[in-house]
This record gives sequence, C-alpha cells and structure tokens, in this order.
Amino acid sequence: MRVFDRALGNGRSIRVRWTDRTDGDMAIGAASSEQDESRNAVTDRRWVWLEQVHGDRCIDCDEVGVDAAIGAEADAVVTAQFDLALAIHTADCVPIALWSEDGVLGAMHAGWRGLEVGIIESCVQLLRTKSSNPISAVIGPSIGPECYEFGEVDLERLSAKFGPSVRSLTTDGRPALDVRCGIRNELARLNVTIVYEDDTCTSCDHRLYSFRGRGESGRQALVVWSESA
Ligand SMILES: [Zn+2]
Repeated sequence: MRVFDRALGNGRSIRVRWTDRTDGDMAIGAASSEQDESRNAVTDRRWVWLEQVHGDRCIDCDEVGVDAAIGAEADAVVTAQFDLALAIHTADCVPIALWSEDGVLGAMHAGWRGLEVGIIESCVQLLRTKSSNPISAVIGPSIGPECYEFGEVDLERLSAKFGPSVRSLTTDGRPALDVRCGIRNELARLNVTIVYEDDTCTSCDHRLYSFRGRGESGRQALVVWSESA
C-alpha cells in the first residue's frame, strides 16, 4: 500500500492510500467478508465506492446521502463529511484524489473516455461549489504510454482537445496515448495543483492489477479521507 499524508491549515490531515495486489482484490464483484477485512486494513471509515461507467457524472454525497451514493453509477464523488472514505477502483485507468484546503474531498476515475467526456471538469466544478479554497490532487498508478497502444483516429481527437503532448509511443514504436499527460493538462487548466503523482505502470509492474496488460479482473483501490491531525 502506498501512503500520502498532507496536513491542512485547519487542524485536519488528508490521507490518501492506494493499494496493490498484496492488499487484496478490491473489485466490486469480489465483495466478501475477506474484502471487508481488506478495506478495513486501509481505513475503517465507511467506504463510498461507485459503479464506475467511464462517464462524466460526479455525485455530491452530501446531497444524495451516503446510502444512495454507495454503488451509484458515476465516476466521481465529492463530500464535506469527515467520517467517510472515498474510494476509486482501477486496473489501468487513472485514480485521482482531490481536496480543498478546508477539507472537502473528491475522488474520481478517469480513463481516456472519462477524460474525453469531461469527468475531471465535472468533479472539480462540483467540489468548487462546496469550497472556494485552492484544490490539490494526488494521482495514483495507471497504464503508462509505453504499454498503451492507441488508434490513430482516437489519438487525433484527444490530442486536438488535450494537447499534442498526449501523443506518445509504445516500447515498440507504435502510436500510444499518454492519458496521464492529458489528465495533468486538464487539472492545470482547471487550476488544480498536483502534489503527488505515482507514475508506476499497471501493465509493467506485476504488483498491480492490469486488465489491458494481463486481462485481470482484479482491481486496486485509491482511497481518500481526512482526520483531525
Ligand atoms: Zn508499462
């Protein structure tokens, strides 16, 4: 499990954790008492997880209520509540934790589809309705461009929208998408400060689950919550 902690000015601290294979399979379909134990080993706060669908919907957990938010079809969630942990499950897509300086939290799942339809803007804007303070982000591990061969037509469209730097090459020289780069560009455009980025490739690093690299159905989780420091 990887750990990121950051003290806020208001006496609280942000905790971000991202799991690997040794922490257990966090895939939603695998829900079991074993998984409850795996989740509790990360944090015993209540996990708000989503039925991720590669769309642009972001849920305000405080608006819809925790019970409705858990398992909702959405790719991002925000909350100002202190007793919840927001969780994103991924294999190759990019998990992102967000927070405002006064402790409003966000978590999102951003693959290339989510990036293209605007999940990042949708989550950042919703968070801004709950806090006018600066927003920071931690980006978890995802598939690297060297392993992410991509079709020329899709690449052309994404590079027109998110900048030519999203174009990359695989290890063997084929056109590839640097999805992390697109996400960095989008967060920068939205004035969000990236304070940490894990650039481990899920396909290259066998400690992580990868659908694209190994056809695995398992998922790692990125989880964010806050605690009184
Ligand atoms: Zn790789």
